Amino acid sequence: MKSTKDKSDGYLKCSFTSSRRDFLTGTARAACGMSLLGLGLGLYSEVGKTHPANTLRPPGARADEEEFLGRCVRCGLCVRACPYDCLRLAEFGEPTATGTPYFIAEEFPCYMCPDIPCVKACPTGALDPKLTDIKDARMGVARVVGTDRCLNYWFNHRCLACTTICPVRGKAITLEKEIWVKSDGTKQLRFIPTVNDEHCTGCGMCEKNCPMARYGGGAAIKVLPLSIVKREDQRYHRRFTPEEQKAIETKAKAKTL
Ligand code: SF4
Ligand code: SF4
Ligand code: SF4
Repeated sequence: MKSTKDKSDGYLKCSFTSSRRDFLTGTARAACGMSLLGLGLGLYSEVGKTHPANTLRPPGARADEEEFLGRCVRCGLCVRACPYDCLRLAEFGEPTATGTPYFIAEEFPCYMCPDIPCVKACPTGALDPKLTDIKDARMGVARVVGTDRCLNYWFNHRCLACTTICPVRGKAITLEKEIWVKSDGTKQLRFIPTVNDEHCTGCGMCEKNCPMARYGGGAAIKVLPLSIVKREDQRYHRRFTPEEQKAIETKAKAKTL
């Protein structure tokens, strides 16, 4: 575009001298920008429908994620009400829907306040006010995810960390006796941490306090969102195949040499 002065009246007038190449370049840039924006919005809307496996919603959060997102107005009042600062609001660019509350159990678990201030603070019911007993909360469910890391499976110790720290003690997670038949036919008694789904609130205290959390690879027990857990897996008692068992014993032997 070029500005010229009209000699007849002295006013400034504009005349367009855009070339065909400028026009096509501009159009292509605009189209490219729009498609990137579309891609960004598409990804953003996918983010809105889900959240990563290590992020958990506060107590009382509507189990249906879409319903929760529809009700949550991103005010952050639940976050402000939490006396343990375990809740945070997702920031733009995080995989959880922006502005919505969540916690990461391995960093800051929920301390299961008896008066549930986060739920009381929620003005919309995104955190269900019908939750009046924190032991009825279902923020997720714990799973022993590292049988090659759990001290009781792997090293045949009698670690009590997860069972003693659990606020729903004696109910949500218990140690179950199991006879381990080794590949050479000898038997050994093991005490297997076993989560009872009907009592587990998903608070994450077990994950935070598992001694293996201090070593690379993380806790042997993790709390997962209910949406991704297969309920039938609730008692993890799968026996190792002979090949797996042999590999485990070889590894253990190498460690003790
Ligand atoms: S129950 Fe207490 S610790 Fe847990 S999220 Fe709510 S306010 Fe925080
Ligand atoms: S605290 Fe960790 S290592 Fe100890 S029994 Fe529980 S899952 Fe296993
Ligand atoms: S998440 Fe762990 S500590 Fe919390 S109730 Fe369940 S088993 Fe107990």
